[in-house]
Amino acid sequence: MNRNNSGQVKRPGWLTIRVRSGDNLDYVEKILADNHLNTVCREANCPNRMECYDRKTATFMILGRICTRNCRFCNVTGGEPPPLDDEEPARVAEAVDKLDLKHVVVTSVTRDDLPDGGSGHFVRVVEAVRARCPGVIMEVLIPDFKGDRDSLEKVIRSRPHVINHNVETVPRLYCALRPQADYSRSLTLLRRVKDGNNGIKSKSGIMVGVGETKEEVLGVLKDLRDSMVDFVTIGQYLAPSKEHYPVVEYIQPDRFAFYREEAYRMGFEYAASAPLVRSSYHAADMLRAGG
Ligand code: SF4
Repeated sequence: MNRNNSGQVKRPGWLTIRVRSGDNLDYVEKILADNHLNTVCREANCPNRMECYDRKTATFMILGRICTRNCRFCNVTGGEPPPLDDEEPARVAEAVDKLDLKHVVVTSVTRDDLPDGGSGHFVRVVEAVRARCPGVIMEVLIPDFKGDRDSLEKVIRSRPHVINHNVETVPRLYCALRPQADYSRSLTLLRRVKDGNNGIKSKSGIMVGVGETKEEVLGVLKDLRDSMVDFVTIGQYLAPSKEHYPVVEYIQPDRFAFYREEAYRMGFEYAASAPLVRSSYHAADMLRAGG
């Protein structure tokens, strides 16, 4: 494995991020700033930000910028979060309107400090966006609400088109990468999204290159399908900094193609699998393709 001077695995030539520029960049950034809104695009330093902004889409991050957890791969700041911002749902709706978004993705930090884990706030955002932009497609990328069923039911009752919850990695690596999370709790949450035949699409995703084996990834795909998950995303982990969990391996593009084929063979309606794929990347295409 090629390593650089500080011993980190060298990023391969085929993993280049084409920096795009365009008028939409400034436009989107200004709308977000004017409305005091956070995006996971910026917080997670997402490599696709330029492309998504250009396509007039962004993933809003609600419930503040401080997470009560501290996953080793994540660029979001951990600590004691501020109180809820009751104006946030209206501001998200205003930004959606101004950006003329057709497919809105709303995610959040994890708020284990709140009795309902922030699920009530998710519902208020979905309702505010729907009231202001009736035809918009709503996708929520939710935390695990510590497995609380009522919190999840609240979000399900708000009827987003897609409920996404990432399992992020293989169960063996949970202790090292996301010690406050629980793999089977996440699978239970995803299965519950599909209870009651409510027409909501479920979605999950993992990052690879953190030391998992091919067999472990196939195991996760099978577990997700057994939990009736419709859409899956698989992307290369990129360490936000030297302090974060190191990249163990840059997975070759043909391995991503293999995972995609296996996912379709297992029955996923849509599988996005490539180095720069992220949870909300081309989210609108998924729903269009998944019907
Ligand atoms: S729970 Fe989510 S936002 Fe919080 S540290 Fe983990 S990945 Fe980041």
